[in-house]
Amino acid sequence: MTVNLSCDRDPGDTACSGRGAGASTRTGTRLPLAGLVEFSTCDWPGRLVATAFCQGCPWSCPYCHNPALRDPRAPATVPWSDLTDLVRRRRGLLDGVVLSGGEPTVHPQFPTAARELKDLGTGVGLHTGGALPGRLEAALGALDWVGLDIKAPRRLYRQLTGSDTAADRAFESLRLLRGSGADHEVRTTLDLRLDEESLFELAEELLAEGVTAFTLQALRSQDGRTVLRRPSDLSAALLDRWRGSFRALVLRE
Ligand code: SF4
Repeated sequence: MTVNLSCDRDPGDTACSGRGAGASTRTGTRLPLAGLVEFSTCDWPGRLVATAFCQGCPWSCPYCHNPALRDPRAPATVPWSDLTDLVRRRRGLLDGVVLSGGEPTVHPQFPTAARELKDLGTGVGLHTGGALPGRLEAALGALDWVGLDIKAPRRLYRQLTGSDTAADRAFESLRLLRGSGADHEVRTTLDLRLDEESLFELAEELLAEGVTAFTLQALRSQDGRTVLRRPSDLSAALLDRWRGSFRALVLRE
C-alpha cells in the first residue's frame, strides 16, 4: 500500500481506514483500551505507573507480545473512564500513566487523550514505535516521557514490521522526539533477524541521528516466559564498541 507520510496515514490509522473500534474511538478524547495494569514498575524506568494498553497497531512485528491488540476493528474492553477514575483515586500514589499498545498514536484523538490525562495532574508516558510521527508531535506537549522502539536498521524495517513506510516513520519520530527535548528512551529488541552486522549498522544510524543513550532489550517468546536472546549474548567486541560510542548503553536482560 502506498502511504502519504505527510498526512500521517497508515493502514492501521483509524482516522482514514473507516475501521475504528466503535464510535467512542472516533470522537472526544477516549482511546479504545484493551487492558489496564494498575501498578507497574517496569513500564517507565524509575516510576510507579498504571499502564493502559490501546487497541490497534498497523505493524506486524514477529515478536509482538500483544498480537490480539493489532486489530483496529476490535472493540475496546476497558472503558476510558476506568483509567481516568484510577488516576483520580491514586493521586499521590502513582507517578504517572503509560499509554502502551498496540500503537496508541494510531488514534486521531491520541493527542487530546494525552492532554486529558496530563490535566488530571499525572505524569504521562508513551510506548510507541513511531508509526504516526505527526500525531506524536501533536502530543509532545502533554508527554513527560516516551519509550521509542527503533526496531532495526532502515534496510530491515520492512522485514520486521511488514510496512514499506515504517522506517521513514520511525526515524521521523526519532527526529521529532530528539528535537523536542522531551525525556525519552530509544530501545531495540534483539530480534533474531538482527545479526551483529545489522546491529552495528543500526547503531551507526542512531549515532548519526544524535542518539547518545541506547537500550537493548532481550527477545522473549510471545508469551513472555522464555528469554530467547539476551544483550549479554552479543559479542564483547560489539558491546565494547557501543560503550565507547554511546554516552549510556543499557542492557535490559
Ligand atoms: S509495533 Fe508493537 S504492538 Fe505493533 S506489532 Fe510491533 S510489537 Fe506489536
